[in-house]
Order: sequence, then structure tokens, then C-alpha cells
Amino acid sequence: MGYILGIDVGGTNTRLGLVSEQGELVEFVREATKQYNIEGQALPLFLDVVKRYLQNHGEGRTIDAISVGFPSTIDKERKVVIGTPNIAGLNNIPVVETFEKEFGIPVFLERDTCLILINDMEKNHIPPSGVTIGIYYGTGIGNAISIDGKIFTGKHGVSAELGHIPMRGVHGRCGCGNESCAEVVACGRALEHIMEKHFPNEDISYIFSEHGDSEIILQFIDDLAIAAATEINILDPDHIIIGGGLPNMEGFPRHELEARIHKYARKPLPDEDLEFIYSKEGQESGVMGAAIHARHQLKK
Ligand SMILES: [Zn+2]
Repeated sequence: MGYILGIDVGGTNTRLGLVSEQGELVEFVREATKQYNIEGQALPLFLDVVKRYLQNHGEGRTIDAISVGFPSTIDKERKVVIGTPNIAGLNNIPVVETFEKEFGIPVFLERDTCLILINDMEKNHIPPSGVTIGIYYGTGIGNAISIDGKIFTGKHGVSAELGHIPMRGVHGRCGCGNESCAEVVACGRALEHIMEKHFPNEDISYIFSEHGDSEIILQFIDDLAIAAATEINILDPDHIIIGGGLPNMEGFPRHELEARIHKYARKPLPDEDLEFIYSKEGQESGVMGAAIHARHQLKK
């Protein structure tokens, strides 16, 4: 029985785990990303982390493939990490070529958000046919689109950047360098700015339960909805998954978000038939998604 080594690279932690053919996760560990996010040395240092993991946890086990998710832009062929805004050193690194040479087994590379969507589709028994979108309101806005079981990549591999649709009236520099991006007002980072300005010294964990009906928070929810409705009106998706840290916070007004998405959705359709599936990501979702993705690829 073989395992997939799933790896989920995050800004703070890199999670690794072995997933069996039956989908059982074993030897799940977290490593600090700062061990290897060093300009010019990231790839060999990251390789060392993986080698050490396999020495400690892979002994006596067959590893069928390695599957890695990065919070990055990835090339269309899914071989090279092009750029990672929040992690130093992870730019233009040929992960697949390097790892396949080192380990001699198939290696798969994907954007982390796409792996979360793949995991959510599996967990919610969503069939591959049709269009499924994942909108994840976290530090930024994560987004992924699956069409007939394939991740939609676009011409250059950088599609599904819902956080960077321009919105009128929005002014402020986005992490991407542009101004007026949805992410300037509609994500966790934006909520932190709202906290600083309107609710200084309060605990962000209780912002929705304490101030969910305040005008400024309702405006924030409205901005989240505008982003979601934009994609929904373009794609008329079969399934809509909403996740990320924000919708899972205490008191987050899901009904308010849904009402506002309906407000902006085209009438009568798709508005009349929107169904929202909430994702409850855990620590292991990225690793599990990576393994499911690898199994799908190996079958091809
Ligand atoms: Zn942007």
C-alpha cells in the first residue's frame, strides 16, 4: 500500500503528512517555514526539510508521489513557483524538476487554494462535472475554480484572483502593487485596518459577535459579497464553497453575507438558485487536498 506525501506551505508553518490510498492521514507534522524562506537558498533548504521528514517518517513505507501546495503564483504547467508575495525566497523555483530528480517519484505542484477546493469537493461529495468555485476569506481572498474536475488555470496559470478585481471607490495599495483591489477592503487584513480605526483596543475575535450590526461591519460584509457575486454572475457555478478564517469566526453573520450576495446576483438566475456550502478547513486540509490531487493525477 502506497502513500502520498502531502505538503502545505504556509507563511508561518509548513505542514507535511502521509496519506494512504484509503485517505488516512498519518505522521502529520508542522515545520517552521522560516527555516527555509531565505533569499537565494529557499529551494535547497526546503528540500532538506522534506528529506529529513522522509528519513524520520517514510521509513518502510512506499511513497507513490509528493504533492505540494504553495501560497503562490504557479506557472501554467504547474512545475515552477513563480512568485510568493508573503514568503521570502520562494520566487522562480523549479520545484517539480528538482524534487523529481532528488526523489525519483512523481511530484505535483499546485496553488494552496486549489488544493483546499479539491479537499472541500471531496469532503462534500461534489461531483467533478460542472463548475465549482471556492471563495476563502482569510488574510486575503483565496479563490479557486474547478471546471469538470479540472482546476481552471488561464493562459499563464494565474487565474482566479478574485481578490484583485478592481472596485470603484476603493483606494489603497494592495499587496500586488495595484490600487483599488477588492482585497484592500474585503479580507482579514482589511478587517484589521477597520479594527485599528474604529475599534481600537478591542479583540478582533469578537468583532462580529459584538459589532456585527454596526454600519462599518455591514459595509465590510457588503464588500465581501460584491467580490463573491462578481464571480457568481460570470460563472453561474453549480456549487459555491465559502470558507476561510473570517466566515468561521464567532458571530460571523453568514445570513447577512448570503443576503447581500443575493442582492448583487443577477435576477432571476443565478440568484434564485444559489446554494452555499461552508468549508471548515482544519490544519490538515491542505495536506489532504494535496494527496487527493496527486491520486487524481496518477490515475490519468
Ligand atoms: Zn491586488
